[in-house]
Parts: sequence; structure tokens; C-alpha cells
Amino acid sequence: MELSHTDKKFLIAEITRELGAAKDGGGKNLIARCPFCGKPGKFGVYIGPPTVRKKPFMSHCFSCGRSTLTPEQLVEQIGRPDLILTPTAELDAPLDATLLFPLDTPQEEIDDRLDIVPLPPFYRRCFAHPYLNGRGFTMDDFEYFPAGTTHGLNRRWDDYVLFPILDEGDTVGYVARHTWAKAKIDAHNRRAKRSGDYKILRYRNSVENDFVKLLYNYDAVIEDETDTVVLVEGIFDVVALVRKLELYDNTRAAVVATFGKKISRTQVFKLQNKGVRTVVIGYDGDAVEAIKKTAAELSQWFDVLVADIPDPTKDWEDLNPEEIYRIFSDRLYTPSEYRLRKVQE
Ligand SMILES: [Zn+2]
Repeated sequence: MELSHTDKKFLIAEITRELGAAKDGGGKNLIARCPFCGKPGKFGVYIGPPTVRKKPFMSHCFSCGRSTLTPEQLVEQIGRPDLILTPTAELDAPLDATLLFPLDTPQEEIDDRLDIVPLPPFYRRCFAHPYLNGRGFTMDDFEYFPAGTTHGLNRRWDDYVLFPILDEGDTVGYVARHTWAKAKIDAHNRRAKRSGDYKILRYRNSVENDFVKLLYNYDAVIEDETDTVVLVEGIFDVVALVRKLELYDNTRAAVVATFGKKISRTQVFKLQNKGVRTVVIGYDGDAVEAIKKTAAELSQWFDVLVADIPDPTKDWEDLNPEEIYRIFSDRLYTPSEYRLRKVQE
């Protein structure tokens, strides 16, 4: 049974009361006395967003090992089957009103299921790398943003640095960036075209999960704690902005990449799901039309601001901390202010 956000909140409140439960540190589980064996503090009910392995209201006792898999089983077990209203009989069910009065925005089903993705063979994390050091990576960056290589043992990825994409701690994809500069790759590929040599791909990313379902640095968004998310285009923007604004340990604000200049419904849902309220769009300065479109879409669900990078040729990697602070203090616009300014400029 699919639970709405309101149903979920209600159920969490009731179960908390019924079991005298408390949230754990991460806020993803309710911890209570086990309804099976009575051991205090050993029974966990998962209340985080759905992941590959975990579904909301799965429960497990770490003392007696008993568990439930669905919300129905759980409420049954704690003696409160009244908490879930089972949909009633099909025969005289009224016509679905949404079929008669289609809504402006159809309630499409959001598929946020993700497969766990293996990293290429011989992948090993690194804490220093000439290419990344050259792009300004610090010790903190290597600590907060796992990156690695295949260490000369896997030809397909040997000249790449890889960034695992994590979601609730699971690896759900990776971005692999060739370590040559774009100009050098382009030059090689022009020569290769004439000589029949192999072509170099600047990126050789994972293919298992569609990237429209992924967000980079999503785990930095903490449910009901992170209020503001800055949306950027790519991984290097995330790392640069976190470093330059020193947001590493800031749980109120997080920087997240959408892998391009637009956001999908699934990505929106993933932010909503964690209780984010304000979204600051930080796409590159040249992305004016994409920013207007994204701002209009996001305004349906969040308070939206645009961080306007004045120089259209620059991104967060190119700007120094002072320039960035100035953008966040003087050039943060509402979507309508932004539209107006871009007409005037
Ligand atoms: Zn138990």
C-alpha cells in the first residue's frame, strides 16, 4: 500500500505514541521496546525515505530478530490495525474523480527506486590525486567527497577519476571524468577521427540508474534539518562551493548537483521527501533560460531563489570565496526579480 506524506507523518506520530518510541540520531528510525520480546531499546522501525533495501515502516528487533515488512504487518503486531484504512470493495466503488476532472498537473507516479551499482573492478579510494589537486581539492574535499581510481589495473577506467554517487549510504552510480583537459581530449579525438585511433570519452559514467533519478551529495541533505539546498550542475561545482563557503559541517544548508541544467520530478520529490524548504538555483551564469524554467517549476514546491553569477563564462570553480560571498549577499533574486533583470540586462 502506498502511503501519502500526510499518512506517513500520522502513522509515525501514532506509532511513536503507541510504542513510547524515540527517534535515533539520524532521525531515520524509531527505537522502542520490542513488541515481540519486550526488550527495551532494541526494536527499530525504519521511517526514512524508501531505498532499495529499506521501505518505510519495515521493523526489526535486534534482540529477538523478529521483523515486519509492511506497515500493515507492523500496526497489526502492535495491536493498532485501526491505524491503516484498507481501501474498500471494488464493486460499488465510486468512479475515480481524477478521471472525470483531470488535474492540470497529472499526478504521475514517481519512480525513485534505485539499483545498487558496483564500482568498476579495482576501484580504490584515494586521498590525493594530481588531477584533483590541480582542480583545487583539499584534504577536507577528499574526506567529504569520496573519489578514486582503478589504479592502473583496469584499462577502461585507468585515465579516469571516479566519484561514487551515494544515496542513503548506498552507491547508486558514479561519474568518471577523464583526467585530460577538455581541449586535449578534443584535439586527440580530431586526430583519432582521421587516423582511425580510438576516441576518448570525457566522461564514462555508470549506466544502471538513469541520472535523472540521482542527486550528487544527496546524503548531505538531512531530513527535517537541512532547510536550504543550493542546486548546481555538476560534482566539481558541489565541491568548489562547499569548500569556498565552508559548508562541510553545516547541516542547515547543503549543495547538491542535478547533473545538468534542469531538475526532474524524481529529483524534486527526493528534496521534498527530506523536508527541504528553500532551493537556491546556482546553475552557471550562461544558463539563463534553463534557470528561468527551473525556477518556475520549483516555485510550486519550494521557496526559490536564484544565485546569479554575473559573468556568464564562469562557474563556482572559477570564482574566489569573496566573489561567491558577494553573489550570495547581493545577487540572490526571487524568480520574478531574476526574470526582470535578465530582460533589462
Ligand atoms: Zn524482540
